[in-house]
Amino acid sequence: MEFNESTLIKRVDETKLDSGEELTTRMTLHCQQCNRVLSDSFSICGEVKYMDCVMCLKVTNDVVVSESVELGHKGDMANCIYSSLECHGCRSAVGKVVHSAPSRLAAVRSIFLLHKANISCYIFNSSSMVKASTLTFEMKPLTKSLDEVKQQFKAQLDHMSLVKSRLADRSVTSEFNK
Ligand SMILES: [Zn+2]
Repeated sequence: MEFNESTLIKRVDETKLDSGEELTTRMTLHCQQCNRVLSDSFSICGEVKYMDCVMCLKVTNDVVVSESVELGHKGDMANCIYSSLECHGCRSAVGKVVHSAPSRLAAVRSIFLLHKANISCYIFNSSSMVKASTLTFEMKPLTKSLDEVKQQFKAQLDHMSLVKSRLADRSVTSEFNK
């Protein structure tokens, strides 16, 4: 892992990324104990705030799904059937995967839930390692994303119109030169 301490401290002090920006920021998720790569930003699909977990569609082979299946009796995991996730390197608990859950937790069924408290994130842009607990992985409201896409399309359309008018100018000029 290449980062120096000063960068790390600087990054932690900086104001946090804009809401939702974490989901577009390229990063890898690591075990906080031994730094093994557990997942990456392409696999993140949100977070469960009240459980303090990052939701991942995929994890690496360094995440071991415990063979024992547990039944939650109280709290957030009440009436859920789940397995714990362990780091293959240091065997520390890094999260859980829910096999079966009541409808209130339907969104997290079969999703790997990595405990933010046990995860570090290596941010590619700033080459720095930060604690997952300092970041938020909430999905952006869809309307906001759509607005952004609309703006990108408009910018491209404007650019194409400009190119088209330039080409038209050029063809007029070449007509004259004949
Ligand atoms: Zn580990």
